[in-house]
Amino acid sequence: MTTEDLGDGTRCVRGGHPEPVGGTPLLPGPVFAAPYHLGDGEGGDFYGRAGNPTWRALESAIGELDGGRCVLLPSGMAAISTVLRAVLGVGDALVLPSDGYYATRQFVRDELTALDLDVREIPTPGPWDDEVFRGVRLVLLETPSNPGLDVCDIAELAERAHWAGALLAVDNTTATPLGQRPLELGADIVIASDTKALAGHSDLLLGHVSVRDEELAERLVRARTLSGAIPGPFETWLAHRSMGTLDLRLARQAENAAALVAALRGHPAVSGLRWPGSPDDPSHDLARRQMRRWNGVFRFELADAAAVAEFVRRSRLVVAATSFGGLHSTVDRRAQWGDPVPPGFVRFSAGCEDPDDLVADVLQALG
Ligand SMILES: *Cc1c(COP(=O)(O)O)cnc(C)c1O
Repeated sequence: MTTEDLGDGTRCVRGGHPEPVGGTPLLPGPVFAAPYHLGDGEGGDFYGRAGNPTWRALESAIGELDGGRCVLLPSGMAAISTVLRAVLGVGDALVLPSDGYYATRQFVRDELTALDLDVREIPTPGPWDDEVFRGVRLVLLETPSNPGLDVCDIAELAERAHWAGALLAVDNTTATPLGQRPLELGADIVIASDTKALAGHSDLLLGHVSVRDEELAERLVRARTLSGAIPGPFETWLAHRSMGTLDLRLARQAENAAALVAALRGHPAVSGLRWPGSPDDPSHDLARRQMRRWNGVFRFELADAAAVAEFVRRSRLVVAATSFGGLHSTVDRRAQWGDPVPPGFVRFSAGCEDPDDLVADVLQALG
């Protein structure tokens, strides 16, 4: 069934599930087949690297939310690298966020050297001068950016990219398909690491790309089939099962982020607090225009690396981990991964604990 006219919670619960048929399971289990019965050539699946019904169920659910055709890939980086390889040719110009996910820049620098790309790294808030778009083939945005949580105007930049003859892609990992629909704002490609909030339980890796152009979708499917970088059916099934609660989890995470940001605002140990959902955040007005709802990821700075270590040591509920969007609240000191941020910069991912418990714990841990 299509769920386009329904609310976020209903769409998360129902998306991608089959019509009821008497005597069949309420929910289908994962299909692990490598080869399928070929039968009399009536079509359908034939080999597990080319097609799998468990993938299609989740692709249908995510694609409906994104507003395009979803192609599932085994991780967020698999989604990003598949898009870059499919779209870029030798000598092409590529715009990347200088403050976005670090492995994307590393992949371009270390793995695409043979393409001899003209790489233009631009911070998410700009400046977006005309020079940036000159002769460009692909513009990749990340908004809100990870880890800085800056925001850029997807609709405006899509228009300018198209004017220059480029495709515009958005890494939508932080927002999730409930938080933001880049394809509706004019983007050609939406990419996400579903390892984060979409699957949301810190127990699997997965990614996807959604597009509206059928030809591009087919190209991505072909790239997946021929590269052999395919999602595992069990991870796919788990992610689909997890996605059923995305609306609930995101609501609690955003509630927790709002409570924590309010509690940390003006705290003497805390500086550089940013959360697009906060009305006093510099990106709030733009974020509110293009985002549908908030999530649990915010950032702030403590004095130095030792202060972050001390904060984690004193906390009962917050653990250090380098991911976000999960049930459990986590902090990640990003400088340790090479992000161009101060040593005491942390990205905080508010989980699904009780807001009062979290606020009390974080305040006592800050001393
Ligand atoms: C985590 C992340 C990725 C990479 O995803 P994996 O599933 O770890 O491969 C890409 N982009 C952003 C914004 C991320 O946060």
